[in-house]
Amino acid sequence: MATYEGPAFRLIETITLQDFERQGGLVSLDRPFLVRGGVTTWPAWEKWSFGWFATLARDAPRNVVVSFQDGLVEQGATRQPLKEPLEPYVRRLGEEAAAAPARRDPDIGLCSDRLLATLGPDDTFRLDWGYLTSFEPNKVYLAQCDILREFPRLKDDLRLERMWRHRRQYPYIWIGPSHTVTGLHTDYPDNWFCQFRGEKEFLLFPRGDSRFLSPSTKYDFGARLSLVDIMKVDEGGPEAALLSHAHGIYARVLPGDAVFVPRHTWHCVVALQPSISLSVFGLTLADMVMEGPKRIGLDVLHYLGLYRRGNCTCHGAKAGRYA
Ligand SMILES: [Zn+2]
Repeated sequence: MATYEGPAFRLIETITLQDFERQGGLVSLDRPFLVRGGVTTWPAWEKWSFGWFATLARDAPRNVVVSFQDGLVEQGATRQPLKEPLEPYVRRLGEEAAAAPARRDPDIGLCSDRLLATLGPDDTFRLDWGYLTSFEPNKVYLAQCDILREFPRLKDDLRLERMWRHRRQYPYIWIGPSHTVTGLHTDYPDNWFCQFRGEKEFLLFPRGDSRFLSPSTKYDFGARLSLVDIMKVDEGGPEAALLSHAHGIYARVLPGDAVFVPRHTWHCVVALQPSISLSVFGLTLADMVMEGPKRIGLDVLHYLGLYRRGNCTCHGAKAGRYA
């Protein structure tokens, strides 16, 4: 079988933190870009390690139990989330991160270190989709966790006012091992994705590419999902063929970086290393008035079992029905 070539990619537009601050913060809302070292002046940059979260959970007045995502949920059959204590999970990840070799294999990844080192801002290149067949997307992942509700003091470690103004901000944390996968989707609000530990590969497609991204009917509270399962595009098929016409943007997100993901931008994320990340969704007043009530209403119906129950990212699929 011929190897799947997929869409052409370019590197994400990248600026330094100094340039970001010099230009007065967020000036373009319509295209994704990366601020290299964008969160390195935040207290969280110094503090937020796996061991630090393990201590935070251990010293909490009660045993903190959180909901973990069990493998890929954006495509295919969702497995029921797992409710487990936070402390042993983050402690084990810290041990895994400490035991990992200091230098990764330069040939590993959708865009390997070796290829990345040769690329300039105007180059187009193809990804190694075969890399995604080298592991299973079955990791238990603390994904999009509202951990600040449990630990409100964590907010003191952030400097969200530097990202944008006049927005209601909703920060969610992501903590997981290597090889966690967030499948293709768009979010309805704008999003700042901040990386504190580990490296991730981030693939993005502009909102105008929706016709190549095969939107699905699977339910998610804040996202629109794609039928394209990046773990399987190597096998071909009509969705993979359509995806080849999209206009890919690749970001290698390093610890300390921040990526601006405009609303309705398709994206997916694969972790190269054990990672700690933060998504900050910023809602305008118009977002809250126009979108909020509709989405909350649908979510109530969903949790009552009246709307797309079982075909969603938040509940396990009924056996066999959505497999
Ligand atoms: Zn659900």
